[in-house]
Amino acid sequence: MAIDLPPLPYPKDALAPVISTQTLEFHHGKHHQAYVTNTNKLIAGTDLESADLETLIRKTAGDPAKAGLFNNAAQVWNHTFYWHCLKPNGGGKPTGAIAGRIQADFGSYEKFLEDFKNAAVTQFGSGWAWLALAGGKLEILKTANADTPLVHGKKALLTVDVWEHAYYLDYQNRRPDYVAAVLEKLVNWEFVNSQL
Ligand code: FE
Repeated sequence: MAIDLPPLPYPKDALAPVISTQTLEFHHGKHHQAYVTNTNKLIAGTDLESADLETLIRKTAGDPAKAGLFNNAAQVWNHTFYWHCLKPNGGGKPTGAIAGRIQADFGSYEKFLEDFKNAAVTQFGSGWAWLALAGGKLEILKTANADTPLVHGKKALLTVDVWEHAYYLDYQNRRPDYVAAVLEKLVNWEFVNSQL
């Protein structure tokens, strides 16, 4: 069973000007595609050939001999999740059940925003900022490179990709501006609620 590149859940120009068409063309069409291609090459002819993506990630996590496969498979998962966390005309204050959970666990939306931005901006080098559910409580975390909450027993609810390839064409080195714009204008809170 080959791993497929899922299509974007919206047209490539749908997130502009926050995330440009050109960024989505490269980010989905080249970077995400490369992780899919590499994953398929690395599992071809092995006992993991017919495993699904989550199984691949869980079975290779923490194994130095399988780091290449883990990195590519986890990046396939992380990117598919990231695309679904975004939508045109999204962002701003949450709606639905997640709004109450954020209020309860962070004290306010503003505090959540501050903590999430801080995680995204302080992730040194490539990685991801996450809102996740851990032991029944919301938690903000940052992960390096391909690392992902599901191998730490946490359920991802929202992510922002902070690899330079996610924002460099549109924001150059201004990662804080990219993160703020995504949170303000693109977060798909309906999707976040669907993951609760
Ligand atoms: Fe990326």
